Amino acid sequence: MRRKLVVGNWKMHGSIAENKALLDGIVAGVREYLNADYVVCAPYPYLNQTQSLLQGTNVAWGAQNLCSTTDGALTGAVSPAMLVDYGCTHVIIGHSERRNLFHETDDTAAARFNAAINAGLIPIFCMGESAEERESDWTDYIVGRQLDSIIRRFGPHVLKNAVLAYEPLWAVGSDTPATPEQAEEVHTFIRKRVARCDPEIAAGVRILYGGSVTPANAPKLFAMPDIDGGLIGRASLKIDDFVAICRAAN
Ligand code: PEP
Repeated sequence: MRRKLVVGNWKMHGSIAENKALLDGIVAGVREYLNADYVVCAPYPYLNQTQSLLQGTNVAWGAQNLCSTTDGALTGAVSPAMLVDYGCTHVIIGHSERRNLFHETDDTAAARFNAAINAGLIPIFCMGESAEERESDWTDYIVGRQLDSIIRRFGPHVLKNAVLAYEPLWAVGSDTPATPEQAEEVHTFIRKRVARCDPEIAAGVRILYGGSVTPANAPKLFAMPDIDGGLIGRASLKIDDFVAICRAAN
């Protein structure tokens, strides 16, 4: 039985004052929800504050990206070991905003994925198709290609220490979530594709859905057999919404 997981992706939002109120509210809200796992992915400058406020609670924390190199003359980059120093357990890899706005490719995302694994971090590996790709019936091809970029390089066993996230681009940051049936169809495709390589790993890997998850739609999404929780953007910035989504997972 896979435990549900809810991950908040704050993106480039927050301030010291806002974070304190948000994290205090989340900690108080989910304290008794012990049947699922919760992670908050904060911007780099707030990882220290996040660590101080979350350590000793049932909410873990992580980052939204990392550099695939361990150290060096790389102005502006943040290494995997730096995230570990701040107690991060998770890191988002290959988010569509990184792929589209920051020129991330399957190759660079795979290198970051590998760097996370090597540092003992759990990568949350994002995949998803655009609206045009869905309309052209390319969803399986795009998601399959993104998934294969990891499995072909590193083998299916790396997914033992990773989380997958299906995030259709047309649903992220929009008001058009995938229906539970649409999401489940792609989650099943992903799990079957992993199962071709290793059925045991496929049965254990958690596959999150992300894209306009709200307290209203989370219960039905999370009730689908292959949806193991959510990667939450906007709703992770509101205490009541995030706690309600965590309750649905719990
Ligand atoms: C995301 O950024 O990963 C996301 C799913 O955003 P939202 O929940 O706002 O659609």
